[in-house]
Order: sequence, then structure tokens, then C-alpha cells
Amino acid sequence: MDVLTKLQDVATHMNLEPDGEPAKQLPLAQEVAPCGQLIPKSPPNPPKNDMKSIGISHLIMPGGKTLPALKTMLTTACERDCYYCPFRAGRSYRRQTFKPDEMAKTFMDMHRAGMVKGLFLSSGIIKGGVTTQDKLIDTAEILRKKYQYKGYLHLKVMPGAEKDQVRRSMELANRLSVNLEAPNDKRLALLAPKKQFVEELIKPLEWIEQIRKNEQPVNSWNVRWPSSVTQFVVGGVGESDLELLIISELLIKKCKLQRIYYSAFSPIRDTPMENLPADHPMRQHRLYQTSFLFRDYGFDMEEMPFDQNGNLPLDEDPKMAWANTHLLENPVEVNRAQRSQLIRVPGVGPIGVKRILNARRQGKIQELSDLRKIGVPTKRLESYVLLDGKRPLRQMPLFPVK
Ligand code: SF4
Repeated sequence: MDVLTKLQDVATHMNLEPDGEPAKQLPLAQEVAPCGQLIPKSPPNPPKNDMKSIGISHLIMPGGKTLPALKTMLTTACERDCYYCPFRAGRSYRRQTFKPDEMAKTFMDMHRAGMVKGLFLSSGIIKGGVTTQDKLIDTAEILRKKYQYKGYLHLKVMPGAEKDQVRRSMELANRLSVNLEAPNDKRLALLAPKKQFVEELIKPLEWIEQIRKNEQPVNSWNVRWPSSVTQFVVGGVGESDLELLIISELLIKKCKLQRIYYSAFSPIRDTPMENLPADHPMRQHRLYQTSFLFRDYGFDMEEMPFDQNGNLPLDEDPKMAWANTHLLENPVEVNRAQRSQLIRVPGVGPIGVKRILNARRQGKIQELSDLRKIGVPTKRLESYVLLDGKRPLRQMPLFPVK
């Protein structure tokens, strides 16, 4: 069988693994695949050599640039049977396996042809996590040593991988991921009963940070340690937003994760969870918004509008909900507020704050149009600010609404 057909077979089940920056817009309904990959609900039937059909997608990188990357797996066979996963053992469809040198050569052929600039490599588990991790490492070593590949490489860490393997993977990759899938061991048991939450998933994330902190990357391909990320399947086993966000906060602080991905659960045919309802994609969106509020805006868990079940409202932006409670009666004076106050105003992000602080050095901001002139959109902020001591004059619609 030719390699393109093999890649197509893999990509049919795996083509939207999150990486790079989470998309700003509301995600479309998707299925969750192995170790957290996302799959379009109805996989299209693309032309045989279409880029997406062989697993090439564009990662959004920090700053908004995109990187064409091959997202694929060494094997779609797996001896485990995670309840949500299309690659689980016993599910009937054609499995594909690449040898490390075959995968490395295939990728480099595509790279030289200008089709891809990055590789995201995962795998099903065969003969245990240690053997499987060795194969991922072998592939990465062939790429870095034999082919002198200097581009982006994201490697998965298999459940059960050993600390030395994690270190070697770190020496070869730009990014490592260990997908937790669930916020704790009880929830994980309902999703993937053979995965051990602490031993197989939390520990490797801790090892990565220990190694980054205590060891020099002298054997690393670019003399730098890689970033680390994880992903949760959202919905399906009844976990609350609060559970997910508490563990997320802990991991960001303790393991210095660069990204946490949230993927809305969607049932996959011929799995034990096939009859469960898909999670609302807006929930995934609200989780991302809230995690950014913690990371970039200085908000705390207690300030978020959780309901009595620990979930965020789907119909209201969490920053807007906070502002409606706190800023409607106590608007922020744009000309005097500190950075930490300005950034809490709806519609103002880190860049908007910088622009406001720069503009204040030139003179007073008196009108909404002054803000628009410096590139700060005003539609969302006008109810929550004062401009030189006055509520801003709102722009009235051209025609009265009847
Ligand atoms: S370990 Fe679980 S999630 Fe990963 S490929 Fe195997 S069955 Fe799927």
C-alpha cells in the first residue's frame, strides 16, 4: 500500500488535533479522537491527493501566523479501549502502521516538496507505552539526525512512558503533549478505565517541568527545552467547568503548561459512548475564554459566574458577566485607571491597554472616537467606562427603532 493511502486512512479518523493557538471563533461540532484528537462530525470524502485528506492542516501560531503541518499517527492500532476513542481495540476498520524510518522519510518528502513545515506525531499503543514511545523517539531521531530536520515537531507522550524517554523526547521536540482527558481519576475511569491518572498522565507532566527546571538542554537539538500542553475531553462524563478549570490552574502553576485544550465531546459510532449526547460547542468556547481571563487578565476563580453545579453560563461571555455585576455602577475612568483595571473592561485586551496607556501620555481621552482612532473598539466597553469623568455619549442608531 502506498504511503499516501496510509496517511489518508489515518487522517480519516484524525485530522483536527488542537495545537498552536486555540481558534478565536466558536468551534464547529466535532468528534473526539484518540488521546483527544478531534474529528469532523461527518468526515468529508476529499479528493485523493487533497492536502487535508492526508492530514495536513494549518496550525495557528502565536502572533496569528499559520504553519502547514502534517498531523498523523505512527499506528492507528491500539491495545487499549478508551470508551470515546475511534482507535480503541476491537473496533472494526482498516488500521495503518508506519515504521519510524518510513514515517520520517514520508514527512521529509512532503517537507522538501513544500507541502508541510511541521509535524505533529501521535500513536496508538501497541506492546505498551514504553515500546510505543521508543518508536516515536526513533522517528524523531531519524528526522533530527539523518535528515537534519530543523522545523516544528510536536510529539505525544504515551501513557506509561518512562522518565528517560520523556527526557529524550524533550531533546527532540518543540512541544510535548500528555493528554489528561479528564480532570481527576474518577472522571477518567469513566472515559478511559485503563489509563492511570497520576502514574501515567500527571507524572510525565511533572517530569517535563522538573527536567526543564533542573537540567540544562545540552543534548537538545536546538539547546532549548520544549513547551508542554494537555487536553481535556469536555462533556461525556459529567465533569463541571469548575473541576476542569481548577485542575487547569494547578497544572499551569505547577507544571508550567503553555496551553490547555478543551475539546467538546461528541459520540463516535461503535464505541461504548456512542449513545451519549454531544457536548455543546459553546461550552468549550466559554472554557477557553475563562482560561484566558485567568492567564492574561488577572481574574480569579471566585470572580467567575459559576452556577450551583460549577458550570459557566453558555449564553453570556464571562468577562461581560463580571463587568455587568461590578462595572455598570462603578465605571472605570479610562484616563486614570491602572492597567489591572483597564484590562477588566469588556472589549479591552492586552493590546488595547497598551494603546490606551500610550495615548494617555499624549493627552486626555475624551470621546469614544478617540479610542477608535487608536484602534480600541468601543462597542462593548461604552457602558463600563468614564471618559474624563463623564459617561461616553453613545452612538445613536441612524434611524429610530420602532
Ligand atoms: S490509548 Fe486510548 S485514546 Fe489513545 S489511541 Fe488507544 S484507545 Fe485511543
